[in-house]
Amino acid sequence: MRERGERALMLQTGAGLAVIVLVLMLQAVAEPGRGASAALVAAYPVFLERIEGNSLVWKDGTRMPLDDGKGAKSLDQKLEDPDIEDMLSMPYPLGRTGVPPAQDFDPGRVRFGPMLDKMYGNCLSADIARKLVPVVWLPTKAGTRIMFHPANGAAEQLRKVSEELDRLPPRFLEFLHPAAGSYNCRPIAGTRRLSAHGYGIAIDIATRRAHYWQWTKPAAGKGPDDARRWRNDIPWEIVEVFERHGFIWGGKWYHYDTMHFEYRPELIAAAKAGGR
Ligand SMILES: [Zn+2]
Repeated sequence: MRERGERALMLQTGAGLAVIVLVLMLQAVAEPGRGASAALVAAYPVFLERIEGNSLVWKDGTRMPLDDGKGAKSLDQKLEDPDIEDMLSMPYPLGRTGVPPAQDFDPGRVRFGPMLDKMYGNCLSADIARKLVPVVWLPTKAGTRIMFHPANGAAEQLRKVSEELDRLPPRFLEFLHPAAGSYNCRPIAGTRRLSAHGYGIAIDIATRRAHYWQWTKPAAGKGPDDARRWRNDIPWEIVEVFERHGFIWGGKWYHYDTMHFEYRPELIAAAKAGGR
């Protein structure tokens, strides 16, 4: 009885990912091969109900197909015209692994827009800014306010990230302050796709120490392929804090964006459960 009581308490106090992982391990046994989509349902319990055949079933009865039946897609096709399976198709590597990323391996860079639109709202057609809540960034070292979306616990998890980063030794401050931005309603440069920043679920840290695949010029005497060669200054200690609270890091993408962190608890939960 004591054990049961403790488990209930954990659930009540929202020990979040630990509970999600436990549920996933049980589901993985019941439904082998469904680890990543089970992680999706478990990571967004307010919105999502279950997987049924090829359908993601929402709490409000909405159904979205996991597989759109369009067959194998290139990375560009996945980015431009994804289904839910495409979004989950590249398993995010946790911790001090996954770098430099393999060619075209961009775990989390594929986003299924209709799902995010329904959970967070589409800022091009709805007033998202009004829903956002302030999170104090590095309470003792910066104290600035970052606007973030409260749905799915995103803002609450960012608050935990902020408090943990605040306790890191002073040498990390140059990577964290000033933060470079969070909510921004705009398409990704050169595309019509909405950035994760448009949903209020992404934050960029210090621009001065960032590397972005599009900014990088080939080294003297090297061809254009050298431009994409992975570069990074962001310390692992910072990445680990974000991952602990459900955020993925753009530094683990072949098309790297090392200042970018994005709240994607389904990918972190799938990684912890070993779900693929
Ligand atoms: Zn970003």
